[in-house]
Amino acid sequence: MLNNSESWTIEDAEKLYGVNRWGSGYFEIGNNGNLHVTPDLNNKDMRIDFKSVIDEIKQEGIQFPVVVRFHDVLRSQVSMLNETFNRTINEAEYKARYMGVYPVKVNQMREVVEEIVEAGQPYEFGLEAGSKAELLTALAYNTNEGALTILNGYKDEEFLRLALLATKLGRKIIIVIEKYSELVMLVKLAKELEVSPSIGLRSKMTVKGRGKWEGSGGDRAKFGLTISEIISAARYLEQHDMRESFKLLHFHIGSQLTDIRAIKEAVNEGARIYAELFRMGFELDYVDVGGGLGIDYDGTKSTSESSRNYSMDEYVADVVFGMKEVCDLEQVPHPNLVSESGRAITAHHSCVVTEVVGEIRANSVEVQTEVKEGEHIFVTNMRDLAFGVDKQNNLQEIFNDASQWKEQAMDAFKLRVVSLEELAKIETLYWQIMVKLQQRMEDAEFVPEEMQELDYNLSSQYLCNFSVFQSAADTWAIDQVLPVMPLTRMNEKPTVNCSLVDITCDSDGKIDQFVLGQGISDVLPMHKLKPNEHYYLGLFLTGAYQDVMGDMHNLFGRLNEVHIYAYDDDPEDFYIEEVIDGSSVNDVLSIMQYHPNTMAQTVKRLIDKNIAEGNIKPREGVRWTDFYENCLKGYTYLKSRE
Ligand SMILES: *Cc1c(COP(=O)(O)O)cnc(C)c1O
Repeated sequence: MLNNSESWTIEDAEKLYGVNRWGSGYFEIGNNGNLHVTPDLNNKDMRIDFKSVIDEIKQEGIQFPVVVRFHDVLRSQVSMLNETFNRTINEAEYKARYMGVYPVKVNQMREVVEEIVEAGQPYEFGLEAGSKAELLTALAYNTNEGALTILNGYKDEEFLRLALLATKLGRKIIIVIEKYSELVMLVKLAKELEVSPSIGLRSKMTVKGRGKWEGSGGDRAKFGLTISEIISAARYLEQHDMRESFKLLHFHIGSQLTDIRAIKEAVNEGARIYAELFRMGFELDYVDVGGGLGIDYDGTKSTSESSRNYSMDEYVADVVFGMKEVCDLEQVPHPNLVSESGRAITAHHSCVVTEVVGEIRANSVEVQTEVKEGEHIFVTNMRDLAFGVDKQNNLQEIFNDASQWKEQAMDAFKLRVVSLEELAKIETLYWQIMVKLQQRMEDAEFVPEEMQELDYNLSSQYLCNFSVFQSAADTWAIDQVLPVMPLTRMNEKPTVNCSLVDITCDSDGKIDQFVLGQGISDVLPMHKLKPNEHYYLGLFLTGAYQDVMGDMHNLFGRLNEVHIYAYDDDPEDFYIEEVIDGSSVNDVLSIMQYHPNTMAQTVKRLIDKNIAEGNIKPREGVRWTDFYENCLKGYTYLKSRE
């Protein structure tokens, strides 16, 4: 599938890595073969060469792996979502407005929340919280006066009390009831505190979103009220003289909705419920369509689980026109529209940059395979086979023979018939045969099924300085595909097929699903590593969930973070606004209840004892003590060579 001619072009690289398909205009391969970033789609003149970002990170002495955040991308996405809603509302002559909120759980980092709130200020863009901690955050950070704060998730009395106090302070809080008993508690508290709350009811939808999170809809959904519960809840509010408090109808049928039809159906169902409630005398102000706006991670624009078959424009059009159609038909006013898009806002803005620190390949080291008097017949056979590959035509037969003899040789080794040195020769010859077979199969029209694995078996594993569990949890947990690519050298043809492995001691710590051309592949072509070169890879679209869900498998902690702002007047079009240090070994040990100071003392005592006993010299002992303490203060990842 690679262009075999010498004339490798940037277009070929683009075809291979598909940047234009998943990059949404933010990323592009530059003519110099480096990845370029256009962080503000409204100002395409600002282009950042990723290589300059890497150089500056190095200059500042920041260790890799690093999370790079483009704050302008975050801002750009916030305004794009709001502008799209506003434009569509105009076009549709929709008679109410859009009042979106950002669900904090998608990326709770303070800098991210602050940036979104600030970028959303002209639109009165608000926040959504799903837990007490998130509510406390939203109360302090949702500084946009007119914006909503929507409260989802299960609630206890304390949560509700906080929400009511915030209402008293004049914030536009909407408490969404997920479970009937919450309503009873809320009504009681509201009376006690003499606050008139704004209440939303979350409807359990019959529509299931298709994709990984389809469990958020349907009869067995964890959250929300059934239709009977909604009616009873509404009546309950009426009985308590709180009919006016019922302000919002909420639904959320899952994240990363892959199929636009699910969205259309959900909007239709939600609009019907809203209209009927309105006619029953519950004049709601808002319909909240939840999250679910997907990201095209694999660039296929399909209903595959890492993609979606619609654009943001189409999503917004379906929400606005869908709601309008039902309301007009039922002759009820258009409600204000709320959405809770998190993934769509945050995914693009952050990426992980890691360095390839080594290569692992089955056939990387060969032994001499010369004939030796009295050698085992398996060695002779394998050698003859290896010499014959070029002349013979039955490739499948050669493959079968070689595989079978390799297995038999191992059995013979265990029976002490074949020696260790002979086994090494057989192994070397076997891989030589496989490489030749692979070369010959490049022109073959038909490749037998067994032999299709050859490419994978012969591929390299590039060892990358990061932890999948910390930085790309979903690639491990739910087979999420994230775009991965080199950041430089894309004007050179990549000749090594590889998958990626991380530095954890876990065989699941790998990435072997890649966006490649029009599909997904288990290997990705990368460039041959050069001695003394630092070869960096980017793992993209990690801003939603990945950034904050990682765990400390093997005690690899949080990454160093670099926050980039685009800046016209700078020769490189950017500056590093802030650096946030990742976890030190001290940090991760303390979380696990260790006492790094005591550990240092214990080791120092051990060193002192060895000095006293004359095993090591005092000077050396001091160096040892310092070294141990510095390692504790250091980064948890591998130190790159200079
Ligand atoms: C997680 C969640 C969201 C965010 O969904 P995205 O698909 O990331 O936009 C919105 N609303 C609720 C209720 C959620 O639980």
